[in-house]
Amino acid sequence: MIKLVVLASLLVSAYAAKSYSGYQVLRITPQSEDDLTVLSMVEKSISDMVDFWKHPRSVGIPVDIMVSSEYREVITRFIQTRGLKVEVMIDDVEKLSEQQKLRESPSTANFDFASYHELSEINDWMTSFAASHSILVSLENLATSYEGRTIRALKVGAPTGSTKPVIWLEGGIHSREWVSPAAMMYMTNMLVEGYGNDADITSMLDDFDFYMIINYNPDGYEYTWTNDRMWRKTRSNNIGRLCDGVDPNRNWDFQWGNAGTNPCADDYQGPNAHSEREVKEVTDFILGLNDVRVFIDFHAYSQMWLTPWGYTYRLPSDYTEQYTVARDAVNALSAVYGTDYVYGSIANTIYPASGSSVDWAYGVAGIKHSYAVELRDTGRYGFLLPANQIIPTAIETFEAVKVIVKAVTY
Ligand SMILES: [Zn+2]
Repeated sequence: MIKLVVLASLLVSAYAAKSYSGYQVLRITPQSEDDLTVLSMVEKSISDMVDFWKHPRSVGIPVDIMVSSEYREVITRFIQTRGLKVEVMIDDVEKLSEQQKLRESPSTANFDFASYHELSEINDWMTSFAASHSILVSLENLATSYEGRTIRALKVGAPTGSTKPVIWLEGGIHSREWVSPAAMMYMTNMLVEGYGNDADITSMLDDFDFYMIINYNPDGYEYTWTNDRMWRKTRSNNIGRLCDGVDPNRNWDFQWGNAGTNPCADDYQGPNAHSEREVKEVTDFILGLNDVRVFIDFHAYSQMWLTPWGYTYRLPSDYTEQYTVARDAVNALSAVYGTDYVYGSIANTIYPASGSSVDWAYGVAGIKHSYAVELRDTGRYGFLLPANQIIPTAIETFEAVKVIVKAVTY
C-alpha cells in the first residue's frame, strides 16, 4: 500500500506540480503536559500524512500542522475530542502560494527585490550584480549540488590587498523558506549601496569580506517552484531509499546522528554525516577560509535568534557572550518596525536538533558567533510569507547583522 502511494505520488510529480488545493494549516496550542502528549502522539503516528510546520515543543508554544482536506476532519476531531482547541491559520494553502508568485511590476529595468524569484532569475541576478559592482563584489563557487548545480557566494568587501576576516551569511538551506534567499539578496544590495554612503557599512566592508550564500540548496529551491512548494530537503537519493532528500541542516558532522532516521521525514539526517555533497563541500570551503568571525544561517519562520547548542540542552562556555550579542542584535532588529524576536540556545528555545550548521560552525570551525535565525513571521503566513514583507524583513535583519559585525570588530 505504501509503495503504491509512493508510486502514485511519483507519477503525479512527473507531470505537474503538486497542488495544495484544499490544504489548511491548523494551529493547536498545548495548554498542559497532557496536551503536549496528545500532539506528540499525533506527530509520531501520522507524520507521513501531514506536514508539521511547527513541531510540538512545550506548553504554551503553538504547533502548526498542514493537512489535506482528506485528513483535516479526522485529525481535527481527534484533537478536539481530547479537549484541545484547533484554529485555522491558513484556510487555503494553494491560494496563498499562488499569491506569493504574483509580481507587482514584471518588467522593470531594475531587479525587483520585492518579489520572489525562480532559481534562474536569482542566478542571473548574482552574475550581473557581481559584474556591475566588480570593485566590491566577486562570484565564488563553493560547491556542487547533487543535481550538478553550482552553489555560489557573492563575496563583498572593499579591496585592500590583504586577507580580511570573514563574515559568513547563508540563506535557503531549507528550500521552502523562500524569504531567506530573498532577504539575502536585498541585504547584499544594501551592503553594496551603502559603501561610501553609510559610515557603518563602509567600515564593515573595509574591515571584512562578506560571503553571501544567497541560496544554499538550489536543487531543493528549484523543486519548490516546479514540483512541490513545501519541499525542504536536498534532492539526493541512494538506491533503495524509499524517499528522496536529506535535511541539509541535520547532516553536518558535529554530534551528528540524533535527528530523524526516517528517509521520508522532513528532518531526515541522511545515511551518514556529510552524505550530502552540498554540506561536505561547503564545510571544506569554510575550513579553507582564514579567520571566519561570524556564521549566520537564515531560516524561516518563527522570529528567533538562536545560539549554540542544538544537540544538547547544555550551554557552551561562550554562551554568555553569544546570548548578550544575540540580545543586542534582536533589540536593534525590533527597533526598526517593532518585530518581536525571541533568542537563546537552539535546544532550549526550540528543541534539540543534532547535525545542524550552527553547531558545526561553532563546534568544528570554532566560529564563536554562530547563529541560526528564523525570520518572519510567527505563523500568520508561515512559509508563505507575502512578497511585500521581503524588503522590511531584510531591512530589520540587517540592523541585527550590523550589531554582530560590530561585536567582532577589533
Ligand atoms: Zn529552516
